Amino acid sequence: MRVLKPFDPWKSELCTCGYKLSFNPYTGCAHCCDYCYATYIPKFWEVREKKDLFRKLERDLDELKGDEVISMSNSSDPYPPIEKEKEITRKCLKLFKEYGAKVLVITKSDLVLRDLDLLSEINAVVSMSITGCDSLEKFAPSTDKRIIAFRKISEVLPVVLRFDPIVPFLNENRLKIIEVCQPSHVVTSTLKLRRDSFNRIAKTLPWLAERLRRLYFKEGEKFGGYWYMRKDLRLGILRKVEEFCESLGITCGFCRESFEFKAKSCDGKHLLDEKDRKKF
Ligand code: SF4
Repeated sequence: MRVLKPFDPWKSELCTCGYKLSFNPYTGCAHCCDYCYATYIPKFWEVREKKDLFRKLERDLDELKGDEVISMSNSSDPYPPIEKEKEITRKCLKLFKEYGAKVLVITKSDLVLRDLDLLSEINAVVSMSITGCDSLEKFAPSTDKRIIAFRKISEVLPVVLRFDPIVPFLNENRLKIIEVCQPSHVVTSTLKLRRDSFNRIAKTLPWLAERLRRLYFKEGEKFGGYWYMRKDLRLGILRKVEEFCESLGITCGFCRESFEFKAKSCDGKHLLDEKDRKKF
């Protein structure tokens, strides 16, 4: 079985990513975010190693043409706590270096700082998710820890801020995070709900439950198994973030929304092209 697979989020017509490869060094995630989109995977909160991972990764890397972007990871975090001891993600980064691969590292963990030495030697961009919703991200490093990590990584690499998801009534006005981080690019997106993620959020924040129920299940629309808010509401929220980014001279893209934006890519992969990188 392949470990580098074409990225295909729910076969969604709302995705604007273009072609990239998805790679998850682990199965499952220990951060346990209430809003997680990947909990359709059985036993998702148990982080598991993959059998024969390095041999399979080398085999798949051998077949690359060289211009593909590898996105690590989309449906787990490459830096769960056991990575401290296992160093599986670090070993994968060493292989990426050997093969000259282009890598977009998506994480919520400050453990990524451990690998800055390697990351600065390969064509890599780090994308750090910071939503300011610590209560919904039970076992992920705190917002403060992530902001400190973000600023340290920014000294050596382009860093994308994933202000994602925006949970209505909760973090839509926490734009200060963007100002504090001063990212190379912002990718943002409104919350999408499944019944299981709604139930988890409702349990953690009961005051929000009725408002979300109305916005999503009564007035919203469904795409590929996920509930969205009404289009005009989503667009209003996203344009506000975009305008704020523009006022700071920062580009902004939207994830799985199908709205137009001015940035060269939604996820920040344009920063992997040398000409679009800041001088580091
Ligand atoms: S970090 Fe991402 S994959 Fe992990 S639980 Fe949170 S949303 Fe899900």
